[in-house]
Amino acid sequence: MILGASLAPAALVEDGQPRATIVVPADASPTVREAAQELSAYLEKMSGAKLPVVAEGQPATGTRVDVGLTQAARQRVPTGFIGDDERVWIETGPEGATVCGGGDRGTLFAVYRFLETLGCRWLAPEPENELVPPRKTIALEPFRLDTRPAFSWRLFSAGKPENERWGLKLGMNGLYSAETASTNGACAYWPRSIRGVHAYYQIMPAKRYSAAHPEWNPLLGGERTPTNVQRGQLCVTAPGLADEFAANVVRAFDEDPGTPLVSISPNDGYGWCECDACLALDRKLCGGRTTQQGLARAKPFMGDRVFWFANEVAGRVARKYPDKKLLVLAYINYAEPPDTIRPKPNVVPFLCHYAPADYSRAINDPASEANRQFNSLLKRWMKISPDLMIYSYVSKSMWWRLPRPVLYTFAADVKYLHELGGRRYYCQSSLSDWPLDGPLYYVIAKLLWDPSANPDAIAREWVNGMFGPAAPAITEFYAEVETAVRKTGKPYSDNPRTQAAGLYDRASLDRAMAALERAEKTAHGDEAVAQRVAEVARTFRYGYWMIEGFEQSAKLEATGDPACMEAARAAGQKALTYCEVSKAADFVKRWKTGAQLGVPNNGFGKEETKGDRRCWNSDETGPGDNACGWASFTIMAPDRSKPMVIEMDVWGESQLTSISINTSKNVWTPIRSQQRLSRKPQWDTLQFRIPPEALDHERVAQHLGFGGADSQIWVAAIRVQKDK
Ligand SMILES: [Zn+2]
Repeated sequence: MILGASLAPAALVEDGQPRATIVVPADASPTVREAAQELSAYLEKMSGAKLPVVAEGQPATGTRVDVGLTQAARQRVPTGFIGDDERVWIETGPEGATVCGGGDRGTLFAVYRFLETLGCRWLAPEPENELVPPRKTIALEPFRLDTRPAFSWRLFSAGKPENERWGLKLGMNGLYSAETASTNGACAYWPRSIRGVHAYYQIMPAKRYSAAHPEWNPLLGGERTPTNVQRGQLCVTAPGLADEFAANVVRAFDEDPGTPLVSISPNDGYGWCECDACLALDRKLCGGRTTQQGLARAKPFMGDRVFWFANEVAGRVARKYPDKKLLVLAYINYAEPPDTIRPKPNVVPFLCHYAPADYSRAINDPASEANRQFNSLLKRWMKISPDLMIYSYVSKSMWWRLPRPVLYTFAADVKYLHELGGRRYYCQSSLSDWPLDGPLYYVIAKLLWDPSANPDAIAREWVNGMFGPAAPAITEFYAEVETAVRKTGKPYSDNPRTQAAGLYDRASLDRAMAALERAEKTAHGDEAVAQRVAEVARTFRYGYWMIEGFEQSAKLEATGDPACMEAARAAGQKALTYCEVSKAADFVKRWKTGAQLGVPNNGFGKEETKGDRRCWNSDETGPGDNACGWASFTIMAPDRSKPMVIEMDVWGESQLTSISINTSKNVWTPIRSQQRLSRKPQWDTLQFRIPPEALDHERVAQHLGFGGADSQIWVAAIRVQKDK
């Protein structure tokens, strides 16, 4: 609120000369001293004047700026303010300014909010993307701000120090690191011995326990199997396991007493123990029922088992650390709330918007079947665990950096979660890919403080700050990218291979490209803006051409037109000249091999030469490992009423006698060759005659495969024999 100004405003800086002193409490913590230094440093960047920082009680000249809960500030803040850690109080007037928080962290946030009122903006993590307006004179206009963040946990995967510093400026309160906890007001971080969400394998490493306690390993297919991050859980009913598990969690907190949380979640994937006791537990807790995620096949429901074990651990940990929170993923076949188990107060369900999920629409948009399912389980979770944390896929590496316009859906989700009573939000993201995601991270960080804020206005501020003269063209660019997806109405989650084709409206993408070209022209001459536009353009051009590759590939499957394969390869290769995305590069290799081999394919190794011909081995890992010998390819059969003859140029020393065709009923029919390989170092041609009854009559595209285990088969070309 703005107060009427009756007296001349006090000055911090006049004509480049310091006119104020920053005063911190006599016993200021490292965080409060850091906050004061940040204020001094940014005022100096703005004006060239360096304001001294002194402890309360020391002489202070000029206008007084209290940072933190000095004795003077304590007189001014409202009742109940002190101890409300993240609450922010800023008051300026003719006598000076008070910039403080109810706790140390709040003071740090207060300094950044205060600098924002003076025009500073931190738009992205890189130092060149902060805006610090040059001002020779900085006067204090009368102003008061009393605010606190709407969400109590505002976490992301900071990773690098520059992302951490940016997160603090945006008011995020973790996940940072043990090393910086003393200067960031004890923001949350993973304990050093248990990092990341998938935790069973970290807390109970197979290396340490497998020999002495094989019974703690899950029983899988009749064997006690050691686990890792990707595979296998624990035999949660095994005697002694919960004690040891809890002792290790307690030890992690002993080593890192500063953090308020740890994850005690299962490893990624499945591998649930099949022993009698674990199955009996499932039957007792949830009748041994199954669960379904989206369109996936039903799987045994593990929610009760996972949260039952979490409670076993939580009770033990609470004896020493009753206030520390134990995060437990609600994910894949344990995403649904448990039937009978109710998480203990120190257990925080960590609900992943993963599957079912559709990022083209908001969670509460009933038009999306996937989100309708997720919304239903979210609401059921909120009833039993209102303190849960949402795991939001703010960025998604699985989406290969293709355009993913999620700003407005995610903004709507933050508002909706807040309405439901959600107060904990985690971004799966280091929030550092603005060339792809634009204002997304900035908007989310702001909404986590104030979900009632207008995402459009925040996004506009970001675009104007980043792109200056090119802002109108860039605004149009973002709008067209969003329209491209909205127009087709297709859902997408995490699989570009099956979802990208048909997802984007081509005309909108073309208009987006045209808007970008205009932005490039407008930015010409403004170095900083031109650089930013170039980053956005590079990323978008990569996406534009990858999308074209997926479209061509889909057209090939539908029509069998071989020109599409070459077009897909060319588009993919072009995409990679703008951005090297490793998963996309692997995929483009398939298009390339397809164009050379004559058919779309999967599972071949690198290009080799044999007998002067370019060829590919069906075993990409080579002999001796008894793995990866299988390769597959697709052949088009426009007329499925006639037999089809497939010709393959195969190296004579290969181990190949038959290929298999996969019908829509998921049956693999082996087809023997009409010739035998020569067993000599030469190129042979084999023919496989496929009768019409073995063909997949539902589709033009026929899927075939050969090899397996460790078989070594080199192929130079695959083609359909033309009718004679
Ligand atoms: Zn078991």
